[in-house]
Amino acid sequence: MPRKKKVQPVKEAVAKKRTRKLKPKQFQTVRGMRDILPDVQPYWQKVRKAVEKIANDYSYNRIDLPLVEFRELYERGTGKGTDIVEKEMFKFKTQGGDDVALRPEGTPGIVRAYLQNGMQSWSKPVKLSYIGPMYRYDRPQEGRYREFYQFGFEAIGEKDAILDAQVIQMALRVFKTIGFKKMSLQINSIGCSECRPSYNSLLVSYLNNRKKSLCMDCKKRLKNNPLRVLDCKEEKCTQIVSQAPQAIDHLCKECKDHFTFLLECLDELDVSYEINSRLVRGLDYYTKTVFEIWATNDENGARKALGGGGRYDELFETLGGKRTPAVGFAAGIDRVVEKMKETGVKAFYPAIPKVYLAQLGDMAKKKSLRIFEELEKAGIGVAESFGRGNLRSQLNQANQLDMDLVLIIGQREALDETVIIKDMKCGSQEVVAFRKVVDQVRKKLKNNS
Ligand code: AMP
Repeated sequence: MPRKKKVQPVKEAVAKKRTRKLKPKQFQTVRGMRDILPDVQPYWQKVRKAVEKIANDYSYNRIDLPLVEFRELYERGTGKGTDIVEKEMFKFKTQGGDDVALRPEGTPGIVRAYLQNGMQSWSKPVKLSYIGPMYRYDRPQEGRYREFYQFGFEAIGEKDAILDAQVIQMALRVFKTIGFKKMSLQINSIGCSECRPSYNSLLVSYLNNRKKSLCMDCKKRLKNNPLRVLDCKEEKCTQIVSQAPQAIDHLCKECKDHFTFLLECLDELDVSYEINSRLVRGLDYYTKTVFEIWATNDENGARKALGGGGRYDELFETLGGKRTPAVGFAAGIDRVVEKMKETGVKAFYPAIPKVYLAQLGDMAKKKSLRIFEELEKAGIGVAESFGRGNLRSQLNQANQLDMDLVLIIGQREALDETVIIKDMKCGSQEVVAFRKVVDQVRKKLKNNS
């Protein structure tokens, strides 16, 4: 007679499955994503500090926006025909069925936040600054990642070109504060919905007559986004474009006056610029001013934009608001950091502690935590190696780190609530009560300096 298989009760089987140990597996970052490790953080910190300082100096208030927005915000805002929306968006459906996207750029979210939070009633212009990650499913390469960081400034509610000049001035000030010496401001005006259609048809008829010689992408662009043909990097397109009609020759009076006044403001600021008729920027919403800031000191002369921006007077209507003039700028921090390293711009290194806290035994270890906190609260930087039990190895480390003072707490000191303060420069040593440590350390550091 066959033996009956023992049936495990269902509950027990499920519990067993849950507690079964998974086979170990090591993970790598997803393609195009990377860790920004502590050794490069001083560069990032320098950029963040410069952005914060300039935003503060020009009264641009910080705003933080969600990473996830409705996909349609970018389809309408950034524009369906743009590379960002057509090819590069990380998009997905939530469990609740919402079509969303990871933000590929900041401006549409800023406009959405402005309208949603009633900023129309705030005093104008509303000045905002942001910093954070963006996501674009582009082919990863040097200076191009799928997760990258941008900072940006947006001035909303003012059509005067003085605001365009201020945003450009701020962008340049950030780069100068970071330590860049040579930069090039590229600038253009691409008109508005009044004058652009007639310029567009001029351009299209010029390009149509030369369509056969354009690259495949530009043949498509000619239909969907003819302005983009102007900034194609293909040699054959560049040649055709060099003779093409230029937007600035076909601006309506308002756009022309606006551009002239902007250039006058830049002259007043002694900011040099290059009018670049091929500069159109990749996004649909720009009107009038567009600009980019290039790092020009590349050895091989190749230039990569550190950042760019422009005016977007018609975007608010597209996103359901009233017509609201606005101008903004965004720069990629990853690329700025790469340029800093390449050109020898210094990073930001915080002050190195001059005091080392050494301990011996469990009770001393616990007391050390308290002393550390007292010193930290008093603004005195302290280095330690709490995990080490050996006093000699701690003192060796203090020596290697070139500390001025070492505070030693052993078993006896822990019981007496005292600390030995050893002056590493002159070798002297004294015993101080816990409550006097902060004052005494401060005094000694002052004498040493
Ligand atoms: P955009 O929003 O395309 O005008 O880009 C503004 C700036 O963001 C660029 O000048 C770059 O510095 C940076 N940037 C754009 N795309 C990427 C990317 N995929 N990886 C790294 N930085 C980027």
